[in-house]
This record gives sequence, structure tokens and C-alpha cells, in this order.
Amino acid sequence: MKIDIRSLTEDQIIEFFIDKGFDSYRGRQVYEWIWKKSTYSFDDMTNLSKDLRLMLDTNFVINHIEVDKIQKSSDGTIKNAVKLFDDYTVESVLIPTEDRTTACVSSQVGCSLDCKFCATSKLKRMRNLNPDEIYDQVVTINNQSLKYFNRSLSNIVFMGMGEPLMNYNNLIKSIDLICSKKGLGISQKRIVVSTSGIPKMIKKLSDESLKVNLAVSLHSAIESVRNKIMPFTKDFPLIELKESLIYWYKKTNRRITYEYIVLKGINDSRSDINALIDFCKIVPSKVNLIQYNSIGNDDFKTADTKTIKLYEDELEKKKIIVTIRRSRGQDIDAACGQLANKEVSLN
Ligand code: SAH
Repeated sequence: MKIDIRSLTEDQIIEFFIDKGFDSYRGRQVYEWIWKKSTYSFDDMTNLSKDLRLMLDTNFVINHIEVDKIQKSSDGTIKNAVKLFDDYTVESVLIPTEDRTTACVSSQVGCSLDCKFCATSKLKRMRNLNPDEIYDQVVTINNQSLKYFNRSLSNIVFMGMGEPLMNYNNLIKSIDLICSKKGLGISQKRIVVSTSGIPKMIKKLSDESLKVNLAVSLHSAIESVRNKIMPFTKDFPLIELKESLIYWYKKTNRRITYEYIVLKGINDSRSDINALIDFCKIVPSKVNLIQYNSIGNDDFKTADTKTIKLYEDELEKKKIIVTIRRSRGQDIDAACGQLANKEVSLN
């Protein structure tokens, strides 16, 4: 079977050319085609001779994603159903605001975790995405941002399908590519890695000396409540999570964002607020209150606007920075937690 050339490092590609008796700069040219220029066909590599292109073609393939379907929301959000080389599908979302375009990208096909409020958790985890598959989602959304909004992509959030820290090595490789001058050259500071909270992996990420931001899907600072809505957290108690967050802050000096869906009658009482306030004392942090987006089965309901406002006020009283995540793309099931290949699975 031919090797996917994008699974090789630049040095490995250079080595290939040297082995075949060519100059090393040929390897650099090819590397530029497959990453910076996102070329998906050897035929398009116009600064290589026909023979060289043929040689590449007999040895390698260039696996790449294909946008299978685009849905546009009335609020400007664009959801892409993205087909992978082996026919699996994931979703990526472009979220425009006044002055920004954010790409929400997937890291796995399905998800192995079991957050009860998330549509992706209903899909079995089939496999991890490769670095190029994550990179291609970002390239696709950057192109869409240029096309529809006349500006480049400004931010990237790993909040699509899957748990990024359970696909750790490929996550790191994709960040390297996205941020490298030989890739897209986007600043690490514009990336948010959102995790459901895997302590060991948060520590590992802390050690990478990256400048990416960390968001933790907390959703409750009370163990029993968190265990109920995110059963897998029984293996990752809050005490361990806390310890890993302290480690993160010590290593990176960067504030952590806690994501918190305010669910009616589940995590919206006075004691829930107090527990969250206490949790926020651990390290410098901010809270992103999220409205629950329906995923159909509805054991859950979003707390009403008044409760969310109360939450906001109480946190602010304690000088905690709070933002409220406006739901985007709900009409096309592109909002947080709604990514489940719905359109595709109906076909
Ligand atoms: N596994 C990672 C990234 C994917 S989820 C994580 O858990 O952080 C991205 C964000 O969407 C998380 O904050 C998640 O809690 C939130 N989310 C999931 N389901 C949701 C829903 N039904 N409504 C609103 N937000 C949801």
C-alpha cells in the first residue's frame, strides 16, 4: 500500500529524495505543496518535473478531507460535514462574529466519553483524526472565511466532535502544523483546547510549553452531580482535576476557562453556584456560562435566562470573570453539543 505522504516529517521527505539521488530542496518543495499550499494532487506541483511527479505518485498518496455538505445558519454560522479518506464523517463549524471568525474543529470520529447532554457521545468512537485531518478542517474554514467574510480565520477552538486530549499526539502535531510558518502560521494564543477534564493529559499538555489556552468542561463543581451528567468522571475525581489545573497554571501562567452549561434543576441551585465559586478560587480562571442546546431526547432543559443572569451576578459579585456563550447555528444543529452527523446518518 502507498504511504500517505502527509504522515511523513519534512526530514523524512527530504531523505526520500536524497535516497533517490535528488537534491534535498526537492523535499522542501514538496513539503511546502502538501502543507502551506494544501495541494491534494502531485500533478499540481508545477515546479517539479513530470518524472518527479510520477515518482511521487507511484510511492505516495495524499489523503485529504472533502466537504460533503455545507449548511448555513440564519445567523451566519456554517456547518461542514467533512468526509475522511475512509468515508467516516466529522463536522466542523465556522462561527462568525462582528470582528472574528472562529473555527470549531473535531478531533475524533465519535467520542469515547459519555456526557449525557452531548449529541456526539451517542456516536461510538470509531477512530482518532490524523493531524492532517485536523489541519484540513482549519484550512477549509479559513478558505470559507475568506470567501464569505473577506477575512482570514482568527481563532480555533477544539470544541467539535471528540475529546482532543484522548487524541493527544495528533492534537499536538496538528497544533504544530497550524501554527508553523510552514503551515498556516496562526498564533498559538488564538487556539483553545477544550477538554472534558482528563487530569493526566492536562498535566502532559502543561509540559509542552505551548501558548494555547485551556478550557475545561466542568459543568458542575459538585462531584455527585458531575458524575451523574458525565459518568466517566467517576474515574477522574474533582480532586485530581484540581491538582492538574494547579499544575497547568504553575507551568503556563495562563488563566483557565470553565465551561458550564446551566441545566434546569440539575446544576443551577444556590449550592451549585457556591461550589463553582469555590472551584474558581483554585487558580485564576473565568467562567463561560452556556445555554443548553437541545439534542432531542431531553432529559435536560436549559435554565431560564433569569437563572443564568443570577448565576452571572453571583459570580461577578465574587470578582469572577463571566461570559455567556450565545448559542450559534442552532437551526442547523451546529451549536455546541449538537454535532452528530445528523444529516449524513439520515442518508
Ligand atoms: N470533549 C471536549 C470538546 C467537545 S465539547 C469537551 O468536553 O470540552 C465542546 C463544548 O460543548 C463543551 O464545553 C461541552 O460541554 C459543550 N456542550 C456539549 N453538549 C452541549 C449541549 N447540548 N449544549 C451546550 N453545550 C454543550
